[in-house]
Amino acid sequence: MATGNGRCNLSNKDMSLSHFHSHNQDFPSSVLSAVTPMDCLSFLSELGIVTTSEGDKLFPMSKTASSVVDCFRYAMDELKIEIAEEASVTDIVKTDRFAVSCEDGRTFSSDLLIIACGGACAAYTGTTGDGYKWLSKLGHKIYAPKPSIVQLVTDNSVTKALSGLRLDADLTLTADGDVVAQQYGEVLFTDYGLSGPAVLQVSGEVSRRVRKDRLTVPMKVSLRLFDEETLSCIEEQLKERRISFASRSMDQLLLSILPQKIGAMLLKTALQRPMALPVSSLSDSDIKKILTTMRCWDFQVLGTRSLEQAQTTIGGADCDEFSESTMQSRIVPGLFACGEVLDVDGDCGGYNLTWAFASGILAGSSTAAVLSEESEAADGN
Ligand SMILES: Cc1cc2nc3c(=O)[nH]c(=O)nc-3n(C[C@H](O)[C@H](O)[C@H](O)COP(=O)(O)OP(=O)(O)OC[C@H]3O[C@@H](n4cnc5c(N)ncnc54)[C@H](O)[C@@H]3O)c2cc1C
Repeated sequence: MATGNGRCNLSNKDMSLSHFHSHNQDFPSSVLSAVTPMDCLSFLSELGIVTTSEGDKLFPMSKTASSVVDCFRYAMDELKIEIAEEASVTDIVKTDRFAVSCEDGRTFSSDLLIIACGGACAAYTGTTGDGYKWLSKLGHKIYAPKPSIVQLVTDNSVTKALSGLRLDADLTLTADGDVVAQQYGEVLFTDYGLSGPAVLQVSGEVSRRVRKDRLTVPMKVSLRLFDEETLSCIEEQLKERRISFASRSMDQLLLSILPQKIGAMLLKTALQRPMALPVSSLSDSDIKKILTTMRCWDFQVLGTRSLEQAQTTIGGADCDEFSESTMQSRIVPGLFACGEVLDVDGDCGGYNLTWAFASGILAGSSTAAVLSEESEAADGN
């Protein structure tokens, strides 16, 4: 219910596979061709979930995440699916069957088991990484969980002063000088660094380069605030203002071009000298420096915020050890997994729910197929 700020961004019109990431890139690609994003939408539609779009993003028409949960609940009630509420699972053991133990002493046993308990981010939603513990104990390899769709920690001398302010920018993320991600959108300045949709979208590229809490390569976020055409208009404006606003103090120079506080900070960064000087002191080279900073306002990246603040988990159970056509473990017969517990993460924009739906539908239909084969065999006997 927390998804999409309570609105549930459940899919996207652009379902290119580049939006999904895994150490085994073929795995999400195979699963999403067995159960396509369109199949997921048809499945949701059968449950009564109608969608609407905002740009490429798809939401329930109600734009209310709880209505999606309600549609699932009604469908489960009608199918008489039993839900064990408040069952906090503490252990899973496999002997001839699976034995599942809960904190309150309840136990469950079954021949087949689907682990669908999410990743390790946002523990307040109930996902504390328990699935990794169980899968590891059952013999599966786990890639260390890392946060994605998360805020970036940067050198904060500028961002702290601008905390709470936002602007639209073309964001470029570089690692050791190489461009690794680009995104246009809103950027929010914060006490610790940068947030906002454009920043969250590129954050996975930072996480993937963090080892033992440190970046393995120097990384930088550069913000381009204006296109070239606008910059040449701004250049003319600044030359004019040098004459018409000659006696004003420098920190007023970008008034109406940028929000006042952001403009003053950009000038300070670009010119590195006191803002009390008059606008008349502006040289041609100063104007060039201002335009350069508007083209490329750099922030040194120090890392990401923690899993607790993230919206999805990079890493998880190694997909090589699961069948892409059934989601069944290749190590433990009868064991299935789906969703974020596996080593697949999606970009921001409805990709993580699509992965959860597609892999969940596949795991569910595969277990149902096993059960119906067994019951047919029993009938035959
Ligand atoms: C704030 C936020 C916003 C998001 N917004 C979006 C969005 O708009 N669009 C999008 O595509 N993705 C979004 N995501 C990501 C998306 O929600 C997840 O990737 C997706 O829900 C994963 O599905 P899942 O079924 O694998 O696990 P989850 O949906 O995490 O469900 C796992 C369930 O298992 C339960 N569980 C865990 N451990 C135990 C245990 N020991 N015992 C019993 N139960 C347990 C948890 O309580 C939880 O109910 C968002 C995530 C967050 C945190």
